[in-house]
Amino acid sequence: MLSTIERIILALVVGLTFFLFFIPVFRRIWILTRLKAENRFDSLFRRFFYTLSRVFFQLCTLKNERPWTGLAHALIFYGALTFDTMTVNHLIEGYVDGFYLFGSTWFGKLFSASVEVFSLMVLAGLLFFIFKRFVLKPTAYNTGSRDSALIYLFIFLAVSTYLLFKMMVVVQHPTEGNWSFLSQFLARLLKLSDFSGEALEFYLKFAYWLHTLVVLAFISYVPHSKYFHLFAGPVNLFFRKHRPTAEMPVLDLEAAENFGVERVNDFTWKDGLDALACVECGRCQDVCPAFLSGKALSPKMVIVNLEKHLLASYPKLKAGKAQELPTLVPQVFKEEEIWTCTTCGACLHVCPFDIEHPPKLLSLRQNLVLAKGHFPVELKSFFQKLETFGNPWGFPPSKRAELASELGVPTLSQFPQADYLLWLGCFGSFDEHGQKTTRAMVKILKEAGLKFAILGEEEHCCGDSARRLGNEYLFQCLALKNLKTLARKRISRLITFCPHGYNTFKNEYPALLEILPDFSCEEKENLRAIKVISHVELLAELIRKKRVRLKVVGEGETYTFHDSCYYGRHNGLFSQPREILATALGGRIKELGRSREHNFCCGAGGGLMWTEEKAGKRINHLRSEEIIRNGSQLVATSCPFCLTMLQDGLRDKGAENIRVLDVAQVMAQAIDRDEN
Ligand code: SF4
Ligand code: SF4
Repeated sequence: MLSTIERIILALVVGLTFFLFFIPVFRRIWILTRLKAENRFDSLFRRFFYTLSRVFFQLCTLKNERPWTGLAHALIFYGALTFDTMTVNHLIEGYVDGFYLFGSTWFGKLFSASVEVFSLMVLAGLLFFIFKRFVLKPTAYNTGSRDSALIYLFIFLAVSTYLLFKMMVVVQHPTEGNWSFLSQFLARLLKLSDFSGEALEFYLKFAYWLHTLVVLAFISYVPHSKYFHLFAGPVNLFFRKHRPTAEMPVLDLEAAENFGVERVNDFTWKDGLDALACVECGRCQDVCPAFLSGKALSPKMVIVNLEKHLLASYPKLKAGKAQELPTLVPQVFKEEEIWTCTTCGACLHVCPFDIEHPPKLLSLRQNLVLAKGHFPVELKSFFQKLETFGNPWGFPPSKRAELASELGVPTLSQFPQADYLLWLGCFGSFDEHGQKTTRAMVKILKEAGLKFAILGEEEHCCGDSARRLGNEYLFQCLALKNLKTLARKRISRLITFCPHGYNTFKNEYPALLEILPDFSCEEKENLRAIKVISHVELLAELIRKKRVRLKVVGEGETYTFHDSCYYGRHNGLFSQPREILATALGGRIKELGRSREHNFCCGAGGGLMWTEEKAGKRINHLRSEEIIRNGSQLVATSCPFCLTMLQDGLRDKGAENIRVLDVAQVMAQAIDRDEN
């Protein structure tokens, strides 16, 4: 179809496109190589199949928060796959007249028809996005509109010029396009067959060049825009974290060159890849309790600003002047952003590319606390009390065992044959509400006939809050004390009724053992072998095995359940508490609008239990309003933090009549109506 000179021009234009495409791609890859190392190369097959399922079946975007957006994206995605094939065909056609990848077989004809079906699907998807972004203008789309407008224009032009070209082909070579229903219809509509042969030849070539140039310009533009996610997104999914999402990476305080993240090159390459993969959809922002309650933090903007800064750092990185890069706080991120993340993980959960926001914020906190001694003023006394007394309130350690001994529970020293260690935690030991859960747990375990004991004054705070507040040193001190005690006691099963303790013992202490020199190999092995059991798992199991017999209590009282982020979204314990409630209360749970993996945080995670919530609305008020709207008389939960936050929130909202109980309390009541 093309003359020799045109073929040379086409080759040059394709070469230029490659150049414009790969220069920014290589630059981004090079920047990632300048960042810190991180091993994400385990379980390659698992990674591969996960990525394939998320991308090919579009599960990454068909998440149920935005079903229509997911559908529109899937239409464009499958259309783009078909068009990519046709683009290769189109370029070869310039050199080989009438070339068609699939020949005149039935498959070829079917494919040519399906390209036209996909053209319509792409246009439908495009219309949806144009309407949403430029007419509805949701807050989530508060960035990238220019980029989006350009890309929408490119997609529209690519599809329409393809159809234009195809119309010319079917008019000139009617047999080739006999299944191309759309181009045939359009050609008839425009009466193209009335055109002279010369005119048709001219328009065919014109359409060919027009389509070619649009597609090549589109390809050149993509890596310069947020649509780079087309490539970085799937790669990011491949390297996602497969371990529990709340597990923080261990910081080796002895070996580390610096603590946490101060400059952009302190982030790992995976953090950088996260930033490059972001499509700015704002799903993370839509579910973030900090953002929704009017705080300065938007997880989307954290990632967007990180990407901008990363790319702007290229000249300094190239010149080997990384130390001249600005410190991220406060130049790129404001302190208010850093200290308002509850680590609930909602952002990570909804992100189509599994971008990991909370670890970035926590690394920035680590640097502020460990390297600069800079943190909210109210944390000073919190850290001091944890360091001195092993609990946040400064109670003497001897007080830890008071309640349990009153309840007749022995310590492990008194009862070394115990099968289970019941970890009371700081709330279960000292807090008025937490102590009620302790009473309930003791009652249930006794009823089930389990042999259990507590640590007593040898128990220290697990360190979850200290760690998430950036004080890794304090966390490791507390963990070391607890691990040494556990190593001495040689227990095999540990029950916890705090999701934060559960996550710390189960997911974080084992990794910490890798860097602690204080234990022999045998001790490490024994410590890793300790089975950490959440109270919701244990209680559900006791019910299933009929170790505890319950009678339904509540007399038709409606009830709901608030999932804790650390049992639920981070560790997947959704069904067990519901099982307990269904047995103890009968009837059906009246779920909250946001429940299970879509749960809305109570506002206390990430150590924020111990900081003051100064800006915007209180997160527990937002959750309490949702509970009030639900209309239930009882809200159960499974976390001492949530229990406190919801009780406070409901009281502030004048809804003290709604009872807030831990699932253990509900279960204990079902054993004996007179309890509590
Ligand atoms: S972890 Fe929760 S609070 Fe933190 S940025 Fe994500 S959604 Fe917001
Ligand atoms: S981080 Fe993920 S969810 Fe948030 S805007 Fe970027 S792609 Fe969307």
